[in-house]
Amino acid sequence: MARKLKGIAAAPGVAIAPVVHFHPTLDHIPTWSVQPGDVAAELRRFQAAAGEVTAGLLTIQKELAGAIDTQDARIYDAQLAILHDQTFQADVEKEVRQHGINLEVALQRVIARYEAVFEAMENAAMRERASDLRDIGRQLVSALMATERGKYTANGQDYLFVADEFLPSDAGLLDREHLRGIVTAHGGKYSHGAILARSLGIPSVVGIEPIMLESVTGALAIVDGDAGVVILDPTPEHRADYERTLREQRAIDRRIAEVRFQPSVTLDGTPVKLQANVEGVRDLDSLETEAIAGIGLFRTEFAFMERRQFPTEEEQVAMYRRAMEGAKGKPVTFRTLDVGGDKPLGYFRMPEERNPVLGWRGVRLTLDWPDILYTQMRAILRASALGHARILLPMVTTRSEIVRCREVLQQLTEDLRANAVPHDREIELGVMVEVPVLVSVLPDLLPLVDFVSVGSNDLVQYLLAVDRDNQRVAKMYDPFHPGVLRVLEQIAIASTAAGKSVSICGEIAGDHWFTPLLVGMGYRELSMAPVFLPRVKLMLRSFTLDECRDLARRAIARPSTALVRKLVQEEIQVRWTRQLGAAEERRS
Ligand code: PEP
Ligand code: MG
Repeated sequence: MARKLKGIAAAPGVAIAPVVHFHPTLDHIPTWSVQPGDVAAELRRFQAAAGEVTAGLLTIQKELAGAIDTQDARIYDAQLAILHDQTFQADVEKEVRQHGINLEVALQRVIARYEAVFEAMENAAMRERASDLRDIGRQLVSALMATERGKYTANGQDYLFVADEFLPSDAGLLDREHLRGIVTAHGGKYSHGAILARSLGIPSVVGIEPIMLESVTGALAIVDGDAGVVILDPTPEHRADYERTLREQRAIDRRIAEVRFQPSVTLDGTPVKLQANVEGVRDLDSLETEAIAGIGLFRTEFAFMERRQFPTEEEQVAMYRRAMEGAKGKPVTFRTLDVGGDKPLGYFRMPEERNPVLGWRGVRLTLDWPDILYTQMRAILRASALGHARILLPMVTTRSEIVRCREVLQQLTEDLRANAVPHDREIELGVMVEVPVLVSVLPDLLPLVDFVSVGSNDLVQYLLAVDRDNQRVAKMYDPFHPGVLRVLEQIAIASTAAGKSVSICGEIAGDHWFTPLLVGMGYRELSMAPVFLPRVKLMLRSFTLDECRDLARRAIARPSTALVRKLVQEEIQVRWTRQLGAAEERRS
């Protein structure tokens, strides 16, 4: 009998294939005692295993380099950092010495201890470390036991990867040619496994009911990565339905490839700038600069978070100049340091906070430590001599924050001018609209800024009072809420009326379901992770401006999130069908 299981939509797309279970665990490992005289030899085994795991991770990273986003490939750097962490190594050694146990058991104990600490943390990014630790543990134990972790294959047949969890090292073992979908019991939309699945373009549902794990290997299942649904043992009707969706998906993919380098305009020619979000200069290497209108969000904090201490002004200048060069003359919007909340900075002491997302973060923090802000703004100003740079302030809540940042900027430009240091004197300063209260005072604040960028990820979390990283309330985090749409429209109207450019740089900018709505509300700039850009462009090219406006008007008037979604889905379906027709015509 068919069973419909609900989970969290982690990576879009549909897949139909047999289930194959993969359950690697750390449970069954050998135990023996280690005499004091043998400890050194035991520790040499650790170094050898760590070397092997390092080589393995570097191989996976290299193998996936062309297939996944460069910023997602950094997940492996995080794992390598754990592996080579001196405290971790010292703790394992201590366990072996003090308890006279073999490395495998020592590792199991240390990892369990660390895991418990990380799992208990409020910060989602830190909780994600627990799965990285488990993954490192598994790889080390496999290396120690010289067990070859077999490839995840189904003997050359198509398959669905089903497991408790999908960990970064698993990505290197997949038979990607035949892998059709990923289903796991654990994980959230932002866990490393989900990020990698999206980057690889594999439909995925996470947080699925445990019953899935009891299913029979070889049983047929459908993964609907858009709806977050898995249908186990589907009926012939389910299959026929989803097979049609699959055919359409392939045809749409062909259309997406066709429009990749075509202009970003609506069906009737209204231009909309599609920009890229980047997290570091490494992301620039894979950027198709011809296809983007610029870098709409450079999240500078990631470069700070990867280091062991604050980068100097010179180091920052070098980084920002590389970004300017990488953008090949197109504008680059540098967001000032947005740490705090879910983005801790290891070398900077932050207080323990009960509600870190409501705490000391973004511009609140940098204004309290003006040295950080001065150095960063000066570095951006110096790099701005190379082209079109803009400065964006995160987490702004009050007028005085903008005024103080303007003062800093003015002092810096005067100083650079006095010292004949080249820079853009007219550099634009913008604010992120992420804190809801800003929306109601926006008309008063707009004269103080040059542009506005909507951080919808945070704005939605604050509007709905739903933690963006809390799996338990993940289903409530829905930006299609009509109240959210009304606020988004209000921002577009106020900014446009004041003659200020306004963009969206949160996840919804890259969600193609949102494209016609945002354009209809008045947004003409969308900034997103580059992987989403081609699909958003196809969607944009499927609607006329009037159709977008009409859809936005009707969606905003809907009384519930479900009704908004239904409406948008219906409208998109009509356009997609048209695109499918175009794809078929071209093929024949
Ligand atoms: C946002 O909040 O939408 C945003 C773009 O910033 P971040 O996701 O980095 O918090
Ligand atoms: Mg934000």
